[in-house]
Amino acid sequence: MSTEEFELYNKLVEEIKKCRKCNLWKNKLNYVIGDGNIFSKIMFIGEAPGAEEDKQGKPFVGAAGKYLSKVIKEKIGFEDRSNYYITNVIKCRPPNNRDPTEEEINACKEWLEIQLEIIKPEIIVTLGRYSTKWIFEYFGLKFTSILKVRGKVYEAEKWNKKIKIIPTLHPAAVLYHANWKELFEKDFELIANEIRKRTHNLKDFIR
Ligand code: URA
Repeated sequence: MSTEEFELYNKLVEEIKKCRKCNLWKNKLNYVIGDGNIFSKIMFIGEAPGAEEDKQGKPFVGAAGKYLSKVIKEKIGFEDRSNYYITNVIKCRPPNNRDPTEEEINACKEWLEIQLEIIKPEIIVTLGRYSTKWIFEYFGLKFTSILKVRGKVYEAEKWNKKIKIIPTLHPAAVLYHANWKELFEKDFELIANEIRKRTHNLKDFIR
């Protein structure tokens, strides 16, 4: 752990809070920047904040987030967010939870790039097609469709280390399509395996 990274992260938070790169800031209540441990080796990335996230200023705290936290706890064993870091591609809530536009994704791109540079995760779990497409482009991987790429571990080189990328479905989509639950929860067994290859002590999954 380094205090330099901690300071950089705090600076980044202050910068994001001033962001006007697209119009989404106008209707938001809070910027939803990220939550959890910036020194964790695992980072989860979703799409964009919903109503509850906008209210609380934290990612994945609504119905989909509660389900996600439950699966993370049951399948991986992480009791709370002190073990992992979680964020979204978009930091402000799109009105009526509509999909983010290409323009908004590009405008917000720099923030997630800096988060990745500071945190340097060894395992990246992408939740749904938006974050999966974003991360695949970032690491030069070919994205087809979320149902085709999910459930596999992809490798990339960055920050002088091997990075594992594990795409899965978006938890809100899984709540909507009940028959995807089995696939989603199986993907979390895959994530748990990748973690256990590196440590048997979950509390150690921190840089
Ligand atoms: N859906 C997301 O993609 N992110 C959140 O933070 C909440 C719901």
